[in-house]
Amino acid sequence: MKDPAVEKEGGKDPMSIFNEMAKYGYEQLVFANDEASGLHAIIAIHDTTLGPALGGCRMWPYESEEDAIIDALRLARGMTYKTAAAGLDLGGGKAVIIGDPRKDKTETLLRAFGRFVETLKGRYITAEDVGICAEDVEIIRMETQHVVGLPRGPGAGGDPSPVTAYGVICGMRACLERVYGDGSLKGRSVAVQGVGNVGYCIVKHLSEGGAKVYVTDVFKEKIDRVVEDFGVLPVLPEEIYDIDCDVFCPCALGGVINAKTVTRLKCKIVAGSANNQLADECHGDALHDLGILYAPDYIINAGGVINVSEEICGYDREKAMGKAAWIYHRIKAVMDIAEEGGIPTHQAASLLAEERIAKIGRIHRIFVP
Ligand code: NAD
Repeated sequence: MKDPAVEKEGGKDPMSIFNEMAKYGYEQLVFANDEASGLHAIIAIHDTTLGPALGGCRMWPYESEEDAIIDALRLARGMTYKTAAAGLDLGGGKAVIIGDPRKDKTETLLRAFGRFVETLKGRYITAEDVGICAEDVEIIRMETQHVVGLPRGPGAGGDPSPVTAYGVICGMRACLERVYGDGSLKGRSVAVQGVGNVGYCIVKHLSEGGAKVYVTDVFKEKIDRVVEDFGVLPVLPEEIYDIDCDVFCPCALGGVINAKTVTRLKCKIVAGSANNQLADECHGDALHDLGILYAPDYIINAGGVINVSEEICGYDREKAMGKAAWIYHRIKAVMDIAEEGGIPTHQAASLLAEERIAKIGRIHRIFVP
């Protein structure tokens, strides 16, 4: 007899969770149900070869449980690459809470989530992500030690943006050195998309370094602030892709390197803080074919994860900044791998992460050189 739970629904094959986990070597997928708070949460642990799995908790009104599982798995795997490539002794994981953060997020629910994290006894370390803010992290901390990204108090890392921005500048210098034979910012032109927390700090470094800086944002007051503070050149949001410059620095949203924008770019380098800059891997290939050097986002923006990971052993901002400075060397290593293999840098970044994990243990390789 057919098991109704696995019967086809509307012609769609039900997802085989074990097949999905086997595909990329996930270690563990854990579900939590708490009646009192209404918590429905999932923790995905991708790989703990290098250390405990670090990754934020996302709260989102997923349309289906399958969507939530897929998101947790996808994001956890991304964290394995991010922490490995950043040189951290941490693995990759992610948590998702199914619900609308504007309506369903309560102290009871966050504390129930904290207790769920605690059951894993440090195999997974949580942090903030979409729908979960630094103040929520403080509530989760009431129930578990295994949480980072605290905004204040003893051992807190505080706002990671200055560390992220500094890391981006270090990575950008490595790119400038490779393209122009000189890593100096002086006289270079940079177009910064988004001048929020990270973008603002990047513009400060660029201006102080003597670069010519173009800026844009969707909020006029944010543009006004950087223009006033640093005397930079404002442009409209849509114009930023067409600026003739040395570096395009995306610091706003993901997916900005896409089929519509990639051929408009008139820069030699793409180096910015935004997560998931490539709408699709093929746009990384397109940048490569166009002779534009792409600093892979999760390598160059690793200052954020470096900053929160510093909380694990007692936070020290100077140490976090010191580690972020290594992004210069990580970007150089990525460019070396790419040049030696004749491959785009986004593929080289995966290789860098996989090679580090493979030296210690096991990893499902996606690119075989
Ligand atoms: P933020 O929200 O403070 O700043 C983003 C800015 O981009 C805002 O000012 C927003 O108005 C602007 N923006 C949005 N859409 C835009 C558009 N279409 N054109 C121009 N501007 C637009 O965020 P943030 O903390 O500065 O982070 C920026 C990016 O860096 C994000 O992608 C984030 O995921 C990534 N990142 C941040 C950190 C960190 O430490 N904060 C670490 C790693 C990665």
